[in-house]
Amino acid sequence: MSNLEQRPAELLLADPPETASLELLLPRDVPLGGPRAMGVRRTLPQRSRSLIGAWCFVDHYGPEQVGESGRMIVPPHPHTGLQTVSWLFSGEIEHRDSTGTHAIVRPGELNLMTAGRGIQHSELSTDASGVLHGAQLWIALPTCTRSMEPRFEHYRPVAARVGDATVRVFLGSLAGQRSPVTVFSPLVGAQLDVPAGGRVELALNREFEHGLLVDDGDLTVDGETAPVDALAFLPRGTRSVSLRARSTARALLIGGSPLGEPIIMWWNFIGRTHDEVVEFRREWQQHVEDGLDNGAFGGIRHGLPPLPAPVMPNVRLRERG
Ligand code: MN
Repeated sequence: MSNLEQRPAELLLADPPETASLELLLPRDVPLGGPRAMGVRRTLPQRSRSLIGAWCFVDHYGPEQVGESGRMIVPPHPHTGLQTVSWLFSGEIEHRDSTGTHAIVRPGELNLMTAGRGIQHSELSTDASGVLHGAQLWIALPTCTRSMEPRFEHYRPVAARVGDATVRVFLGSLAGQRSPVTVFSPLVGAQLDVPAGGRVELALNREFEHGLLVDDGDLTVDGETAPVDALAFLPRGTRSVSLRARSTARALLIGGSPLGEPIIMWWNFIGRTHDEVVEFRREWQQHVEDGLDNGAFGGIRHGLPPLPAPVMPNVRLRERG
C-alpha cells in the first residue's frame, strides 16, 4: 500500500488518566487517495511514538464492500529500506512487483515484500474481493541489510490454540509457533482470535516492545479496555499479556527489539539522510517521466501508470527513532 498523504496532520494526544497504565495509541483517519478511495486508520507512526521494534507503519482498513462504488486501486509506487506486510481478514488483493512477483493476497496468508535497495509494486482489489478488511504494516530494515536486493515471500501460518485463543504467527515466534519468513531484526507478528467470554495469557519476549492492534470485539488488555482501532503499547520488560474478550475479538500483535538507529521516513521511502531520500525521489520521478524499466526500481508489466511522488517539503527531513 502507498502512503498518499500530501500533508500529514498532527495528532495531539491528551494526557492519559492517572490510573491508566496501558498506553493507547489512537488512530487517525487517512484517505488512501484516488477517485474511489478507501480510508485507513493509522496508529503508527504518530507524534508520541514512531516505532515499535522495527515496525514503523500500521494502517488498518475496512471492512468495506468492494464493488462499483469502491475498490482498492494502488498504482505502481516505490519503496526503499523496508519490508511490507500485507495481512487480510477478508477480501482479496492482486499484488504485482518489480521482482516479477504476481501474487493474490488472501486472508490468513502473509505476503512479505522486502524492498531493500528499491522495489515498486501495485495493489488492486480483485473482482472476487467482496468485503475488504485488513492491515498494512511496514518494518524498517537495519542499516546492514537495507540495501539488499528486493525479494518477496509468502507464508500461511498454521492456526494454534493458546488458552481460549487461536493464534496465527505470521512472523517471528510466539507461544511455541514460529514463522519461517525472513526478517532482519528480532520481530514478532501474529493474529489473535479470542471467542466471546474467552481469555488467554500470552508469554512475551521481555526484550521486545509490543503493540496490540484491536481489529474487532470488546477486548480487555491486562484488565483495561482497548477500543477497536487502537494500538495498545506494551513496553520492554513486559513478561506477558492477559487478554479477555467480552465479545468475539480479533487483534494483531506486533513486537520487536528496538531498532536502535534513527531513520528518515518520507512518503514510501525509508532512508538515513535527507539527501538520500531526495535521491530516491529523483530516481522514482525519472521512472515516472521516462517510463523506462531500467532504473533503480525496475518495472511492472501492466497498464496502470506509476504514481508520481509528492513534492518534498521545504524543510530538511528530520530523523526519528
Ligand atoms: Mn506499497
